[in-house]
Amino acid sequence: RTTICLFTRDLRIRDNPVLQQAARADQVVPLFVLDEVVLRGPFTRPNRTAFLLDCLRDLRASLGELGGGLVVRTGTPATEVARLADEVGAAEVHVAADVSAYARAREVSLRRALSTRGCALHVHDSVVTAQPPGELVPGGKDHFAVFTPYFRRWAAAPVRRTADVPEALRVPQVRTGRLPAREELCPGDLSPELPTGGESAGRQLAQQWFTGGIAEYESGHDDLADDATSRLSPYLHFGCVSPVELVHRAGNSTSERAFVRQLAWRDFHHQVLAARPESSHRDYRPRGDRWRDDPEAFRAWREGRTGVPLVDAGMRQLAAEGWMHNRARMITASFLAKTLHLDWRLGAQHFLDLLVDGDVANNSMNWQWMAGTGTDTRPNRVLNPVRQAQRYDPTGEYIRRYVPELRTLPAEVLHDPQLLDPADLARLGYPAPVVDVDAANAQFRASRGKP
Ligand code: FAD
Repeated sequence: RTTICLFTRDLRIRDNPVLQQAARADQVVPLFVLDEVVLRGPFTRPNRTAFLLDCLRDLRASLGELGGGLVVRTGTPATEVARLADEVGAAEVHVAADVSAYARAREVSLRRALSTRGCALHVHDSVVTAQPPGELVPGGKDHFAVFTPYFRRWAAAPVRRTADVPEALRVPQVRTGRLPAREELCPGDLSPELPTGGESAGRQLAQQWFTGGIAEYESGHDDLADDATSRLSPYLHFGCVSPVELVHRAGNSTSERAFVRQLAWRDFHHQVLAARPESSHRDYRPRGDRWRDDPEAFRAWREGRTGVPLVDAGMRQLAAEGWMHNRARMITASFLAKTLHLDWRLGAQHFLDLLVDGDVANNSMNWQWMAGTGTDTRPNRVLNPVRQAQRYDPTGEYIRRYVPELRTLPAEVLHDPQLLDPADLARLGYPAPVVDVDAANAQFRASRGKP
């Protein structure tokens, strides 16, 4: 009996139930399909493509050590999987369940293509998330719309046991295929400080995290300059590290529990998107917003030149690293949607253009949270970037790191652009604010009708 292990965004050999199950057969063919539709779409961008190719190289090497290799094909998954199934006489295909509308349509077309060949499709839960979407549901509903009750259930629910790495893989003779260069798949500039992708790098980072940084997570995770979060998000997005393994590994200290709670947020957003796939681009809770059309303001936001130092620091961190601190994501998103009152979808797409952890569930649902069209139970609150800077970047170190033209200014001035003299700003080469923040925030609150 021969099986195909179709990797999607579970690019690891450790704790991978898909690989474990597929490898129980006499022979297994590990496969990744570079999906032509995805490659042509708005989700394929240089940063994530570079990271993905790192992941695939690393996966190919670790499968090689187990005696197999990674077959890489380019095309549509259903066609390529069916073709390979014919080539090797596969009786089964194993794949991880996923939540986006696209992933679910892919599953349907795979099932259809395989059923005509008498080849079974096995879809494995809790590979992408710790708890499978749809597993925890409130009475009479198909998903949780509020995090706190979700988390209560999540924390009490059993987590599946981790899967063992197969001892050895028996792989039939099959052409493995070349991994293209990044420029062939997606030309364009990379963020200069991108992390290296792959399970090896992800495990190393997780190891450092659990033996070091995590101890300060509870107290430090919101401090922008401290940069005291795990930075595991791209590795979680591509499945280089397993969320189940992270949950098992975390102990019971306050910081470890705070970290696990963030993993539950990830599951929460995934179960919302699984139940409401259209929320990737449509308001989950429409609030009657009339978004403004202001290409100049949008450009200033994208380029980190709004004249609001903390917002600009976040946007420039995104451009430089393909990653942004969570607190800065919240502030820059609130600024776009609520202060500038521009459509959250514009901001979400810009994030997806650059974020190496760019993820449909986490990105859209967090953007909707910040825009007040999502699951936030206080959808009309607006973050004030001055107060946020005073609180989360008290010394101004984060702003100075990413907005070097303001490096010489004292923290109080850095925090509050109103205190900056326009002539001084011009001399430093820094723009005046694109908006009167307080007036714009008040206008937003008024437009929503209640505080
Ligand atoms: P840590 O603080 O170490 O947290 C550990 C893990 O928990 C993260 O790696 C992530 O997988 C998960 N997590 C943490 N916070 C959240 C959250 N609010 N929602 C869901 N999962 C969370 N995260 C993405 O992975 N991809 C995105 O595209 C994305 N877009 C975002 C857009 C906006 C507007 C906002 C406000 C947040 C977004 N997030 C996104 C969530 C969060 O900002 C990142 O997951 C986090 O900053 C990643 O850094 P870390 O790995 O050091 O996080």
